[in-house]
Amino acid sequence: MHYKDLDVESFVDHWYKKETYLKAYSKFIQPMTNMKMWPKSTKPSIEPPEITSMPGRPRKKRSKYSDEPCKKKFGKATRKGRKMKCSLCKNFGHNKKGCPIGISFALTSSTLLMKFIFINTS
Ligand SMILES: [Zn+2]
Repeated sequence: MHYKDLDVESFVDHWYKKETYLKAYSKFIQPMTNMKMWPKSTKPSIEPPEITSMPGRPRKKRSKYSDEPCKKKFGKATRKGRKMKCSLCKNFGHNKKGCPIGISFALTSSTLLMKFIFINTS
């Protein structure tokens, strides 16, 4: 462009020029008044959109609260609030699956089995 001796500014749109920028911000922005002092629009207010039913069968089950008891078909008592009792050591707080005796027993049996396999294979 320079060697053709053309005016660079002639390629720039007037929106990007300094004069336009200064003209746009020549009047300083007025502070906003209270919301109650805003002028009321004469046009009708914008209403929320109409509720349209979605395609498909509506859900029958209501979402339950987290602490809501679940109704069972048969008269089975709830296990809520009942203390767990171990059938192995007869202690409360854990059951057969979480019993330390059961765990140790399972561990020893499994280690014994591992040893047995190791001896047999080697
Ligand atoms: Zn136990």
